[in-house]
Formats: sequence, structure tokens, C-alpha cells
Amino acid sequence: MTVIAESIQFEAVTKNYGRVTALREFNLEVAAGERMVLLGPSGCGKTTALRLVAGLEEAGRGKIYFGDRSVNDLPPGERGVAMVFQNYALYPHMTVAENMAFGLKMRRVPPDQIKARIDRAASMLGLEELLLRRPRELSGGQRQRAALGRAIVKEAPFFLLDEPLSNLDAQLRARARAELVSLHRQIGSTMLYVTHDQVEAMTVGQRIAVIAGGELQQVDTPERIYHRPMNAFVARFIGNPPMNLMPVKVAGNRLRMGGVSLQLPAVWAAWLAERPQGEITLGIRPEDLVLRAEAGPAGCSFPVRLTWQEDLGAEAVFYLQAAGELELVVRGRPGGVNTGDTLWVEINWERVHFFDGPGRSLGR
Ligand code: ATP
Repeated sequence: MTVIAESIQFEAVTKNYGRVTALREFNLEVAAGERMVLLGPSGCGKTTALRLVAGLEEAGRGKIYFGDRSVNDLPPGERGVAMVFQNYALYPHMTVAENMAFGLKMRRVPPDQIKARIDRAASMLGLEELLLRRPRELSGGQRQRAALGRAIVKEAPFFLLDEPLSNLDAQLRARARAELVSLHRQIGSTMLYVTHDQVEAMTVGQRIAVIAGGELQQVDTPERIYHRPMNAFVARFIGNPPMNLMPVKVAGNRLRMGGVSLQLPAVWAAWLAERPQGEITLGIRPEDLVLRAEAGPAGCSFPVRLTWQEDLGAEAVFYLQAAGELELVVRGRPGGVNTGDTLWVEINWERVHFFDGPGRSLGR
């Protein structure tokens, strides 16, 4: 089953609810057939963006296009969207098959086609054995799949999902993510997927749109969002534990952060000399710091005290304090160190990020 997908475009869309601005001058283009994830903290406007596409809300200003048609005035029923919400309400008195058939019957799809679509969706989702059960006879994960099935049988050009996996446990969620991606490959609709879970965003999205406070922060591939964050917000929001962000002062080839003074590699010193001076923040992911038992060459490492560690089995997270109240998080191999130990931290300079005062990446 492949549907004819179209692109979705937000053009300078602003949406207010009374005094709250849920989306501000929002621009985003989702390519036909693309899996786009909308990611951001609670209340940032993700659901609003989805509801605007579905036609459940009206944009205050700006336009929404499907392909090159403006759909601002198109009623929800004519938009060709299938939606799955967080609280995927299945009709409790209907079986899974009846739940899936319901919308199609309303649209007078012929019965033999309804049956064919349900069979196909059921086999994609492994629902064959469950078609005659009612929602209360299903586990959370099975209900989730039934809700997805109900959306899939619509064979709609637009597939909108709002935190669809939030009710599943971690293991089921991982499986469901993979299922969703492979499902999307088979169906080919344009998919908008809302989540505040960065792992879900990284694994489901071909591209991720990071939103904060109703504004688009960055839209990019998962790889670029992680390795080339355009600002400090994106840098902190993606990655767990989050990136270390430290205000620094640069003077020639010396860098000061907190009470620590370090030798800057010559390439960075030259690079920074060409950037606007003033407030600078250094960003380093916890896996890009190296923890050692002994000092490296002078100026290349600095002493820290281990204040806390979490042993996760395959790796550990170390919480450290350096001179001048400087706090750092490092990811590394577990074992061999104790809380209270003095250790040494070395920076992997190939992997650092620099941001200006307002938090914009200085690029590189
Ligand atoms: P979450 O992850 O918590 O679902 P979200 O990113 O999806 O959040 P939205 O639901 O789009 O955020 O809400 C964006 C902002 O608009 C929030 O401040 C929210 O309180 C507000 N808002 C959303 N719907 C309404 C409404 N119907 N009336 C008033 N304010 C609303």
C-alpha cells in the first residue's frame, strides 16, 4: 500500500490562545513522504502545530500549504489526515476490527475494500489474532497498535502522531519505534511525529524540528542536530546527560573557565581570534571529556573532584567539581574510582562547540 503523499509547509504561522502565543512566525517545510519529528519541551507548541495541520485549530496569521495548495480554509474532514493521539481513545464497545472499520464505513468505503485494508494493516502490526477482541481485553501495547491500525487503514496522505508511544514501557516502546519506521516505509505518507523524547526523535525522524517557546530552533537530520547544534538550547536539549556548557574567557591561546586555565590548541586560538569577542560559552558533551587518574602534559588537563557517580553497567556517568565552582559531567567506563577522589579531565578539542552571549553557535 502506498499513498500519494504531499509536502506540508508552515509559512510564518502564528497561533495565539488568548494571551498565550503557542507558535510564533513558524516556518517549516516537510517534504512529501518524509518522517519529520517535532521535538521540544512541554508547552512549546508541538501539538498546536499538529492540530493546525489537521485543521482542528485555525492559524491566527500565516499560511499552511499541502503541496502548493493553501489549506487554511479546508475543513478537517477534507484534509486527508490520519491522526494518532497520546490517549488513543478506541471505542470500548467495538472490537479491534470494528474500531478499524468504523471511519471507513462512515466514508462508505465498500466492505470488501474495508476487509482488505484491515487484513493488510493487521498483518503489518501483528494484530491478526486480536481483531475480535475489545479494547479492555488488550494490553497497553496492543491497544497502541490497534490505534495505529485504525489510523493506517485510512490510507491517508498525511499521518500525524502525537506522542503515540508514551503509554508503553521502555522495551515495548523501542520495538514500536522500529515498527513505526518500517510501517512508514511501506505506506509512504508524509508523517509528522510529536514527541518530547529525544531518543524517539533521533530514532524515528529523518529530520527533527526542535521547537522552544513556540519558535523553531533548528531543523536538521538527527546526526546534525546532535553534532552541529545551532544554539545552546538545541545543544542542551539533545543528549543525555546534557552537554556541559561553561562560560569561558579567551585571551590569546589561553582559555579560562571557572578557576581553570587551559592551553587552547593553536587552531582554536586562531579561529576564536576571528570571531566577535565578548561572552563565549564552551560546550562539550559528557563523552567528549576524558577522565584520567593522573595529570596530562601541563595546561592540557585540570584537576577535579568526583562528587558522585552512576554506574550504568556498560558505562558510568561521573559528576565532577573543578576549581571555581565549575561543575562537569563526564561519561566513561565504570570502575576504579571512588567518590571524593581527585582526578584529571582532558578535553577532546576536536569535539567542542562555542556559543556567543545569546547562545548562538559560532559555527565551525
Ligand atoms: P506538551 O508536550 O505538554 O503536549 P506541546 O508542545 O504540545 O506541549 P501545545 O499543546 O502546543 O504544547 O501548547 C502550546 C502552548 O499553548 C502552551 O502554553 C499551552 O498551555 C497553550 N495552549 C494549548 N492549547 C490551548 C488552548 N486550547 N487554550 C489555551 N491555551 C492553550
